[in-house]
Amino acid sequence: MHEPTPLPPAKDLTPDHIGIIGAGQLGQMLALAGIALGLRFTFLDPSAQAPAGKLGRHIQAEYDDALALEQLAVECGVITLEFENIPVSAVASISHNNAIYPGAHALAVAQDRITEKQYFESQGIAVAPYAAVDSLESLSTAIEAIGYPAILKTRRLGYDGKGQAIIRTPADLPAAWAQMHEQPAILEQMIAFDREVSVIAVRSTQGELAFYPVGENRHVGGILQRTDIHPNDSAQAAAQACARRVLTGLNYVGVLAIEFFERDGELIANEMAPRVHNSGHWTQNGAATSQFENHLRAILGWPLGSTACTGHSIMLNLIGQIPPRESILALPGVHLHDYGKEPRAGRKLGHINIVADTIDTCRAHAAVLEQVINAQ
Ligand code: ATP
Ligand code: MG
Repeated sequence: MHEPTPLPPAKDLTPDHIGIIGAGQLGQMLALAGIALGLRFTFLDPSAQAPAGKLGRHIQAEYDDALALEQLAVECGVITLEFENIPVSAVASISHNNAIYPGAHALAVAQDRITEKQYFESQGIAVAPYAAVDSLESLSTAIEAIGYPAILKTRRLGYDGKGQAIIRTPADLPAAWAQMHEQPAILEQMIAFDREVSVIAVRSTQGELAFYPVGENRHVGGILQRTDIHPNDSAQAAAQACARRVLTGLNYVGVLAIEFFERDGELIANEMAPRVHNSGHWTQNGAATSQFENHLRAILGWPLGSTACTGHSIMLNLIGQIPPRESILALPGVHLHDYGKEPRAGRKLGHINIVADTIDTCRAHAAVLEQVINAQ
């Protein structure tokens, strides 16, 4: 297969100054990794309370504010994103003078669930049967082809299962369509999966590729709850092969995650995230190099760090509330990551990484911590 040519290196004006569009917890964790490497950060985020704001300069403006983007472009050698729902036009507007990774093309593909599925298919990667829906009539036609149960999602702007409706019988159709608020949607067959897995992959400006061990993900109500890492996961080779095709095909730079359903030992791609990903948070304490550090190395054209596991890992998300810190930290091999966000039901506030020498210890510690989390 034809290998795309390496992308131009970052502008050398201010190479150690990174711009990040978005200043949420992902931006915070990118900056924590980058400060250790001698990097400085400027964030663009509309929220005054954005978690990463405390770690660099915070330009408080909308993501498509032309003046703010210009400011970011002037002071930062390389720009990246922690949030994929940025208008592609905003990214394109600063792409001619600045290195911005991932670029407008990868972003455009990943922002729309239809173009994303078409891209997977073009790379020979299986997806759930799907159809585009833009009215109640087209939903009725689509469900004939896809069958029950199915899941209706907005094509754009969904996260943590928001903007989704499950359709089990014909009676569910009008309410499901109403939930889309007239936005273009996609109907997907509901996959009776055995488990969900994801792979975190990274590609540098030099074309160097690396893959982390596959994680097994549990979602509750569409929100990721827990990721378990199995160092020799049966899905590793297949997931990695898909990621290799996706990253090289897009001439992608940075970390990218692909979520899959596994059914009867086969992988069906659900979606990709063109950024560091929640199911890769375990790498902060359980891998030789975290996904955050490797993302920065990748966009700066530096050698990638080892993605090897340093033990058995489980990541638990802290949603809605954070238990007392001392009750979490009492166990050995347990690490707390608190994003410093205001508690709110259904909001990701932090996570716990558990690392242990044996899978049994790791699971036992997770069981204790899940009790602590559920006792709140
Ligand atoms: P996030 O960005 O947080 O991963 P999202 O809002 O983009 O979430 P999806 O990943 O599409 O949403 O869906 C969230 C979860 O809902 C999936 O991880 C899975 O558990 C379930 N789900 C989504 N689509 C399907 C499907 N076609 N079949 C079965 N389950 C599904
Ligand atoms: Mg998802």
